[in-house]
Amino acid sequence: MYDVCVIGSGPGGYVCAIKAAQLGLKVACVEKYPVLGGTCLNVGCIPSKSLLSSSEFYHKVQTQANDYGIKTGALGLDFSKMTEKKSSVVTGFNQGISGLFKKNKVKEIHGTASFVSKDEISIDGKEKIKAKNFVIATGSKPTELPFLPFDEKKILSSTGALALTKVPKTLLVVGAGIIGVELGSVYSRLGTKVVFLEFLDRICPTLDTDSSKLLQKLLTKQGLTFHLGAKVTKGSASASGVSLDVEIKGKIEKFNAEHALVAVGRRPYTDDLNLKNAGVSVDEKGFITIDSGFKTTTPNIYAIGDTVDGPMLAHKAEEEGMAVAELLANKSPKIEYMAIPSVVYTDPEVAGVGLTEAAAKERSLSVKVGKFPFKANSRARAIGDDEGFVKIIADSASNQVLGMHIIGPHAGELIAEGVLAITKKLRADDIAHTSHAHPTLSEAIKEAALMVTSKALHI
Ligand code: FAD
Ligand code: NAD
Repeated sequence: MYDVCVIGSGPGGYVCAIKAAQLGLKVACVEKYPVLGGTCLNVGCIPSKSLLSSSEFYHKVQTQANDYGIKTGALGLDFSKMTEKKSSVVTGFNQGISGLFKKNKVKEIHGTASFVSKDEISIDGKEKIKAKNFVIATGSKPTELPFLPFDEKKILSSTGALALTKVPKTLLVVGAGIIGVELGSVYSRLGTKVVFLEFLDRICPTLDTDSSKLLQKLLTKQGLTFHLGAKVTKGSASASGVSLDVEIKGKIEKFNAEHALVAVGRRPYTDDLNLKNAGVSVDEKGFITIDSGFKTTTPNIYAIGDTVDGPMLAHKAEEEGMAVAELLANKSPKIEYMAIPSVVYTDPEVAGVGLTEAAAKERSLSVKVGKFPFKANSRARAIGDDEGFVKIIADSASNQVLGMHIIGPHAGELIAEGVLAITKKLRADDIAHTSHAHPTLSEAIKEAALMVTSKALHI
């Protein structure tokens, strides 16, 4: 009998298991696949960031080395070595999590978990495990278009797109959301002609509108093509490629390519769990119903991460994993959902936290906006990477920071200052009166904060 049995070893599940064990509980973690780490480590965050980094390096040497006075010989691409590097990073972390389980005395069990009752699961229909509490952390799977099922050869999900063994000549990307622009960037940098078909009138719709517009402009400059307001209505695949019928402005157009990557969102994954046996309910979209303390409709069963409503992000799943472990150890954790950042790892990176300007308007909030361009930041100019801006949205009366949006070099690292400001309910003048080293990109944050409260110094 375990105190806690965590089902799923993604960033939500494995963090929950380790934290619960550190707090003195007897813990088991069950994972369906032979390796730990879930979507994020095996087919998500980590392999995509490895390929993004390698392809960016290649592209920059190819397109910019000359501007920096660097002479190169003929440049070549060894794609299989690039993918080997990606796989070795993943394998290293698989072993790392297993090591952390051993160190913290978490029992590692492999097999598919299915509820027998609210107190018991079976593993692969055989071995039974009893626990006082269960935490469901079984994550999500890519959403399939009914008329375009994944075959992972021609019609790819992100998993298939991360496993290609050859750089395609052409790629259609259905959905210009985060997965689309990240993986589209990877292949475009390696020489693929990438064409996006996006249903809405802008790319990455969860971003602040200014960031998403500039991102589209800069990616277009890099050679990616976007068709907005484009509805894919039909599709077929053959050995030679993919053909899609797409409705644009009321007319059907045909698009052909070697592969299509379908990246139209992800759905919660609870298929194998037999939730009914445990009395656990899901909503109409398949998300597990929970209360404010992550309890499902069955009080000894909790659910976290991509299985519950909210942004499908690894660090959100981790926060929830930590919180449930603490709740089970009779502590009182609190997650500041407004302060969960989101980063798009394109070039330039895009990061945001808190309210977008549009969301502030929708809530009829009176806000002030400070927006400072990297073109006026000395470090960005010195490194020759000066596209983008820092935008701060603050309450008009109190100057409290409500949102921060950054597009530009290292935006994903810089956003941590906005996360702290929102978590600690700081005002723009707190940031403006904080020393930022010179010359650094972070000075653009201080300047944007100065623009909220008075005037920037350098424009
Ligand atoms: P998952 O990571 O999905 O883990 C769930 C685990 O449960 C899996 O290992 C699964 O095998 C296991 N499981 C399922 N059913 C059972 C069962 N019945 N029994 C036993 N085990 C089971 N997020 C970011 O924050 N940053 C990024 O840069 C980022 N990049 C991404 C790139 C891609 C291509 C993709 C697809 C996603 C990316 N994400 C990113 C999203 C991130 O991967 C997810 O939000 C995160 O993995 C969710 O964590 P989780 O623990 O809820 O579930
Ligand atoms: P997404 O929700 O980010 O984007 C999906 C896009 O597809 C949207 O722009 C949507 O308008 C469009 N779309 C939907 N149906 C369509 C259709 N029929 N035809 C054309 N376009 C259509 O989803 P995603 O890119 O698949 O990513 C899934 C999840 O994974 C996201 O929630 C994201 O948070 C997470 N993720 C995060 C990161 C990161 O944090 N860097 C990276 C990758 C994935």
